[in-house]
Amino acid sequence: APLVGVLAVQGDVREHEQFLQDVGARTRRIRTPRDLEGIEGLVLPGGESTAMAKLCRVLGIMDPIRELIREGLPVYGSCAGLILLADRIKDPALDAAGCPQETFGGLDVTVVRNAFGRQRESFEVDLEFAGLEPDPVHAVFIRAPQVLEAGPGVEVLARVGGLGRAAGRIVGVRSGNLLATSFHPEVTQERRIHELFMHMIAKR
Ligand code: GLN
Repeated sequence: APLVGVLAVQGDVREHEQFLQDVGARTRRIRTPRDLEGIEGLVLPGGESTAMAKLCRVLGIMDPIRELIREGLPVYGSCAGLILLADRIKDPALDAAGCPQETFGGLDVTVVRNAFGRQRESFEVDLEFAGLEPDPVHAVFIRAPQVLEAGPGVEVLARVGGLGRAAGRIVGVRSGNLLATSFHPEVTQERRIHELFMHMIAKR
């Protein structure tokens, strides 16, 4: 079974571990550079992207993970994990010194944090998800980001309101070794996103 790391500095680590194990992976919690040795995939869970980035910097895993992404390690980012994969954040949070929040990058997209507004900070919806038809994906959004702009190499997998409607907000993307969703499959019974990620790992 492939060994898949789960970034375990903050956020919903346990749910992803469970799902990964359900779809046939061995899992390892990632907190130090040494934990990264030998992993065949990595999941970046939801949580708070600013806190996660700061902790990764402090723990010395920011640059090693960037390097692994560049080398082609399959990575799946959910919610805050999507933000951490994005090359660009619109109106990023600034720290006390005025520095914008960091990301690992690698995914040629611009994301907007907390994009769905206050009254809809959390909501659930059934989405059409490319490659998983005909059954919709039940998606839970929790203070979720949206992809505002996606570069030419980025495949759009899901939009709120349906894939056919160009106006729908982008909430699922794939680009090479990177998969990302605005929503949290790991809080539902929806294991197909993790399955898709396992296929990406197997193909590599
Ligand atoms: N709003 C959070 C952030 O910007 C993401 C929320 C989540 O991961 N559920 O990091």
